[in-house]
Amino acid sequence: MLSDRTGSFSESATLALNARAKQLAAEGKTIYNLTAGELAGDTPDFIQKAVAGTLSRNKYTPVAGLPELREAIAGHARGFYGLDWIEPANVVVTAGAKPAIFASLMALLNPGDEVIVPVPAWTVSYRPLIELTGGKVVEVPLKANFDLDAAVIKDAITPKTKAVIINSPSNPTGGVYSSAALEQLAAELKDSEITVIADDIYSKLVFTEDFSLVPSIGFENVIIINGFSKSQALTGWRIGYLIASKNVAAAATNLLSHVTGNAPLPSQYAALAAMERHDKPPTETIDALKRRRQLVIDALKEIPSIKYQPPGGAFYFFLDLRQLTDNSAEWCERLLVEKGVALVPGEAFSAPGFARLTFVTDEATLTAALKLVKEFAA
Ligand code: PMP
Repeated sequence: MLSDRTGSFSESATLALNARAKQLAAEGKTIYNLTAGELAGDTPDFIQKAVAGTLSRNKYTPVAGLPELREAIAGHARGFYGLDWIEPANVVVTAGAKPAIFASLMALLNPGDEVIVPVPAWTVSYRPLIELTGGKVVEVPLKANFDLDAAVIKDAITPKTKAVIINSPSNPTGGVYSSAALEQLAAELKDSEITVIADDIYSKLVFTEDFSLVPSIGFENVIIINGFSKSQALTGWRIGYLIASKNVAAAATNLLSHVTGNAPLPSQYAALAAMERHDKPPTETIDALKRRRQLVIDALKEIPSIKYQPPGGAFYFFLDLRQLTDNSAEWCERLLVEKGVALVPGEAFSAPGFARLTFVTDEATLTAALKLVKEFAA
């Protein structure tokens, strides 16, 4: 018999669809899988080389990470975000960004406390992470252009509100929030105890000049979530971090000491190597993403029934299918079965009527897939 708590969670919808696409491919069907939440390509060479020399090491590290890695992350974050309060004691290295989010929520929430999540968002995981702590998810809508609506967030605040999760660039919209909206939110949260959890996992994959880092806006209480999954294509290595007040960092470390212990040692060395290059993604990665983003924009010009906002970052288009269907889960299922193109239905992101398209794949695949989407939409 399963516990009520685990029994209430379904498998991540994004992973389930990916599995279905892989299964159809294994059966011999040509599948254009545009569901991935990760960059294409192998572990960068310089990271492979750096880690190769460390493989004889096998001991526990401090739970919050190797001192030299926390030092490197703190130094980098001070410059990147322009926040001079960040010291190694504020940094906790984690086995991917997911445990960083979970440990942050565990440090902040009592059962019954509320977390505001502007949607569409990565609720596919935010929701279980929040509910596992006993907290309650309060979804509020983004504006139609996927910008943050500070007034709507303000109206959703109650005495139980402990945090707001802000993810810019966003999964699934690819949108970046305007500095005007972020500043308005900062003004509204001023003098409150509410913490902004800034999920910055895509903050190194940005295609627009008009981008403001959420933690740099001047929120009084902020936790930064970041990591190397997206910036360095290290999803499988499970390495990320949180940056928070020393109190929260210590509580999160305490929790993680009983759950994961330290993040895997080779992955910490991989992160250290990335930090020596200021965790800057390779220029080729950004250039390829820019080319593919443009390719999708050009292809979508030929499918006027599908609306979209050009993404400012990450590697997603969030397609508005509402002229075609109000059941995007069913639409995506049929698109997969009939045309072999896999997208993630908006239901996974609290946005029925939409679908997420990942543009990390090569140009030929993207072109062929979008041609099939065009046929299907017609
Ligand atoms: N936040 C967002 C918005 C994400 O899209 C993801 C990964 N899909 C994560 C956090 C988790 O990252 P990681 O794989 O490092 O746990």
